Amino acid sequence: MSRTVYVNGDYVPEAEAKISVFDRGFLMADGVYEVTSVLDGKLIDFGGHCKRLARSLSELAMQNPHSDEEWLAIHREMVARNDIVDGMVYLQVTRGNPGDRDFAYPANDVAPTVVLFTQSKPGLAESPAAKTGWKVISVPDIRWGRRDIKTVQLLYPSMGKMAAKQAGADDAWMVEDGFVTEGTSNNAYIVKGNKIITRALSNDILHGITRAAVLRFAAEAQMEIEERNFTIDEAQKADEAFITSASAFVMPVVEIDGAALNGGKVGPVATRLREIYLEEMRKAAI
Ligand code: PMP
Repeated sequence: MSRTVYVNGDYVPEAEAKISVFDRGFLMADGVYEVTSVLDGKLIDFGGHCKRLARSLSELAMQNPHSDEEWLAIHREMVARNDIVDGMVYLQVTRGNPGDRDFAYPANDVAPTVVLFTQSKPGLAESPAAKTGWKVISVPDIRWGRRDIKTVQLLYPSMGKMAAKQAGADDAWMVEDGFVTEGTSNNAYIVKGNKIITRALSNDILHGITRAAVLRFAAEAQMEIEERNFTIDEAQKADEAFITSASAFVMPVVEIDGAALNGGKVGPVATRLREIYLEEMRKAAI
């Protein structure tokens, strides 16, 4: 079935969607994006994604083409037109088409390009991987210095994912100056006893919307949270590990660079946090 995608105000069949070859998103990765999960036809943590989108745009001196209410209406229309029960809505805003290739930003009268599409993932919250956990490998983090901005420059994370696949693993944790930054498309955590350890927010990592929610729920459940750096060595000796992202929710990690955690089995803390996260987020979905 052909999807309906959104391009600059129009809902069109995907085969009819057109973007200029001069679009700065295409030529220079000059664009930002958001991915919002859909469960039972409703948007998960939409407010968080809208807020981060506004921040990413502002950090790149791009205007936000829509109000939060308009973004919500467009997202809902996309879910409805594509009959999405479980899945996600992908949104991208680029600096648009200045009509030529030039390193300097175009004047503000060049309209941004706005694209949305959906991906249907029936049973998204019942992923079998959540029962068995992910294996991760480590790779050096050689990305740029503004990882807090959610740009479409995803080549290195994509290379990391491929390195993981080639090694028979599910994902790669990136390491800089000896410490784990984050996964290729998720935030990374280790668990020691009742304590959850994750890197503090800075320009070094993306400020995960799922991270914020999970840490809030963990605190409410009387778990201790320590926001600090950790090494692969410390992670391999931890009781448990997990990752969070808008589309994987809370995903247990059972192996890091070949070392099994919790006997290679999914641990109780990650399991509980996944349950709480899904329950609370389903309740608050809009
Ligand atoms: N870090 C990176 C590098 C990511 O790409 C993502 C997912 N976009 C995350 C963390 C998790 O962020 P979120 O919980 O908002 O999906």
